[in-house]
Amino acid sequence: MIDRFPSLAYFSAMAKLPIITLPDPLLRKPSAPIERVDDDLRRLMDDMLETMYAAPGVGLAAVQVGVPRRLVVLDVTGDEEEKQPIFLVNPVIVEHGSEMRLHEEGCLSIPDVRIEIERPAQVTVRYIDRDGKARELVARDLLATAVQHEIDHLDGKLIIDFLSRLKRDIVVRKFKKQAKAEPAD
Ligand SMILES: [Zn+2]
Repeated sequence: MIDRFPSLAYFSAMAKLPIITLPDPLLRKPSAPIERVDDDLRRLMDDMLETMYAAPGVGLAAVQVGVPRRLVVLDVTGDEEEKQPIFLVNPVIVEHGSEMRLHEEGCLSIPDVRIEIERPAQVTVRYIDRDGKARELVARDLLATAVQHEIDHLDGKLIIDFLSRLKRDIVVRKFKKQAKAEPAD
């Protein structure tokens, strides 16, 4: 999810990963659960975080860098604030508030498209953390929106699914045309 202006690189040891975009069919594939939190997974978390900060974005799901596993990284802090990265392994929303929040969402996999979406303003998420511990997070406001946006990615759901079929087809057609126009590398 996009919601910030460019910020400085995080750690130079991390590596930036290519982000897949519409109409890549992988974006529609449900991600598989992660069985073990190990150093390889933590490396992926770090690389995803750098990719997200550089994009810039406030959330990124592993499937967006071509890895269809249930992993999400997030950081909704502003540029002037200290960074607060969040890593969610196998996240599940276990509760949501009744109050709704409207937000114009962008997606790193659907460049230059923003869609107003209403979602619960507060969600409770159960997940495994970077150290393999089971945890719960109560997310509010922008973080709640971002968490829901990223968990949708793990289920192959995109922000264009909130549009009418007609409008969604227009967006998809535009990206298919662009993909055809771009020479293969
Ligand atoms: Zn997205």
